[in-house]
Amino acid sequence: MENIILVLATRNRGKSREIKEFLSEFPIDIKDLNDFGPIPEVKEDENSFDENAYKKASFTAKVLGFPALADDSGLEVEALGGAPGVFSARYAGPDATDEENNRKLLESLKGVTNRRARFVCVLSLAVPSGPALTYEAFCEGQILESPRGENGFGYDPVFYYEPLGKTFGEMTLDEKSRVSHRGQALAELKSEFEKVLVWLKRRLDEEKIMRGAADICRH
Ligand code: IMP
Repeated sequence: MENIILVLATRNRGKSREIKEFLSEFPIDIKDLNDFGPIPEVKEDENSFDENAYKKASFTAKVLGFPALADDSGLEVEALGGAPGVFSARYAGPDATDEENNRKLLESLKGVTNRRARFVCVLSLAVPSGPALTYEAFCEGQILESPRGENGFGYDPVFYYEPLGKTFGEMTLDEKSRVSHRGQALAELKSEFEKVLVWLKRRLDEEKIMRGAADICRH
């Protein structure tokens, strides 16, 4: 029997490599958006990580006709009522750089003693007809008063992870993946992947039957 094709709803080759590596032991062909022609961009304009991840996954699955996996992630700061949250990428403006976002965050927290924050990651795995599985993970830490470390991206240099005594920006990718929100959500998906494959096969078979029935009705 042919392997199931799973499309990662991303053009980010780094992200794609990381996920392919994570799921490499399973009988599945993993592709990403770079393997297909241009498809319309999905606007990440929902109010939760959950809705954004599902929107990306279900749109990609519907357009390409294969199951699709999408992630959405960001930073929630307790003293800011959960901001920047779903606006993490554009906290300091629509085209803000990581540096500008970090500067705005540190300014917003000037004089604030509660520095508690958490990274959130939601993974959504959708089939073309709509149903989806969701995985969510968090990583708790503190926002420092100034950046530390050159590694990573986004808010990594200001996010201090107490158990390792380092910011994410001071960790190797390997260290970060073991504790990060994305690493944990992927680990959870991986731990259930045998069951996920059974779920996917069943959903895809159902879709085939529905398409067959629709064809019969049309003729
Ligand atoms: P996306 O889910 O990849 O679109 O990430 C949204 C934004 O959240 C990024 O642009 C970063 O600002 C922030 N973010 C998400 N994950 C991380 C992380 O692991 N480290 C630092 N920043 C992150």
